[in-house]
Amino acid sequence: MIFDVITIFPGFFSSILEHGLLKRALAAGHAQICLHDLRDYADDRHRTVDDRPFGGGPGMVFKPEPLFRAVEALKTASVEGSFPIVLLSPQGRLLKQAVAEGFARQARIILICGRYEGVDERVAENLATDELSIGDYVLSGGELAAAVVMEAVTRLLPGVLGNEESPEQDSFTSSSTTPEGSTALGRQGRHGLLDFPQYTRPTDFRGWRVPEVLLSGNHKAIRQWRHRQALVRTWRKRPEVLLDLPLSSDDRQVLQESQGSTCQPLKA
Ligand code: SAH
Repeated sequence: MIFDVITIFPGFFSSILEHGLLKRALAAGHAQICLHDLRDYADDRHRTVDDRPFGGGPGMVFKPEPLFRAVEALKTASVEGSFPIVLLSPQGRLLKQAVAEGFARQARIILICGRYEGVDERVAENLATDELSIGDYVLSGGELAAAVVMEAVTRLLPGVLGNEESPEQDSFTSSSTTPEGSTALGRQGRHGLLDFPQYTRPTDFRGWRVPEVLLSGNHKAIRQWRHRQALVRTWRKRPEVLLDLPLSSDDRQVLQESQGSTCQPLKA
């Protein structure tokens, strides 16, 4: 998978490319990240990529020409056919796990990082195929957002995570990334629920004990406990997430039982 990042700060990405998952995925050839300096596509001596907004107001806006030139050059040079051209923007659709799963099926993605007051609207309307936001807050540039997208997508690429750390039990993971045989709720693939609580040694830390069932060696009981925990904590922490999930009658029963005293949702 190739990520083409168009940015005025290519140096911004050096730390994430030199650590952890992205470093490993790049070294193993699962992903390739190509950084493109937007200023290389300017057409003046000063390598200008921004200008004042028409209609007045503070700040600067990215001009359309360098962005169109950059994307068109990449499209011409690529062999992948059509692929997403993503403009990072707080106004875009929200990045969710399902969106990352969709991108992970692509061969190539272009990520356009804005700065300043944003990007000339003609880029969103006529160049980008997607506008993508990483959350309802405003950053000063698209670089952090692009890094988030690349990390979320790369860890889903086949072979990037070893079996031991496979993503199928992660929070929000949809059925499409769970392995065959784990399609029903109640087995390991949990179809978009939050992850169950995890514990490691010591079994007793300052009097707080690890739940006994996890020490029991009874794998069936552990699976059931984890599934129930995932259900109940999704209901408590993110009740809206449950609305989109296909719950079995057993699941509904678990939720009903848990609603008595301790498991009110934390927010409406
Ligand atoms: N004035 C714009 C914000 C510009 S912020 C507005 O209110 O819509 C500058 C750049 O940071 C944007 O062009 C975008 O690329 C990036 N950015 C800011 N917040 C973001 C978010 N939540 N998700 C993705 N990109 C974001």
